[in-house]
Amino acid sequence: MSYSSGNPLESPANRQELFKMLSASPEDAIFPHQIHSNFVEIISPQKNNPIPECDALITNDLNTILTIQTADCFPIFIFDPNQHTIALIHAGWRGTHSKILPQTINKLCTHFQCIPGNLIISFGPGIRACCYEVSDDFMNYFPNGSLIQINQKYHLDLIKENTNQAITNGIHPKNILSGSSICTSCNNDLFYSYRKEKGQCGRMISILTMKKNN
Ligand SMILES: [Zn+2]
Repeated sequence: MSYSSGNPLESPANRQELFKMLSASPEDAIFPHQIHSNFVEIISPQKNNPIPECDALITNDLNTILTIQTADCFPIFIFDPNQHTIALIHAGWRGTHSKILPQTINKLCTHFQCIPGNLIISFGPGIRACCYEVSDDFMNYFPNGSLIQINQKYHLDLIKENTNQAITNGIHPKNILSGSSICTSCNNDLFYSYRKEKGQCGRMISILTMKKNN
């Protein structure tokens, strides 16, 4: 789905097919310029111009489709059923370390009057702790139990870290859905994995949008 990684020549047709399946228009979608930051952008019904440089998108507009591209980093989906507001996050280790999820929760509360206890959070596919070996200096970035040891090597558990950050920021544990998140590296036949494919891979797309009940 990426215009810059993998096989960009195929991407326009791939995107067209996806949006056709969804009976949606790519013109309604926001494709942010992701920079591994903690920047959160609110998307208005008029859409934002130019393309936002950020790693989280928020909207309460029914005609806006949020998208994030990943290959090992985690897409994180947030829905507030009370305020009818959604957010979609790109969270790798850099974004997680700079607290992109708490930043997004904070912006949902300050701009859309969301209450953290009402938010529902879900994780998409990403590289799980089983396959995410990191160097020892990650102890400096994640000192609070999100690194586990496997065969004397540190492995980073980004779901655990983001779950802890969510709970610290008022999300109810029962509203955090992580069980469906499949490891991209273990399942490289189904997903792109930047780590497993040594950077030579395309990107998957995650989308989040709201539809009115008929
Ligand atoms: Zn794995």
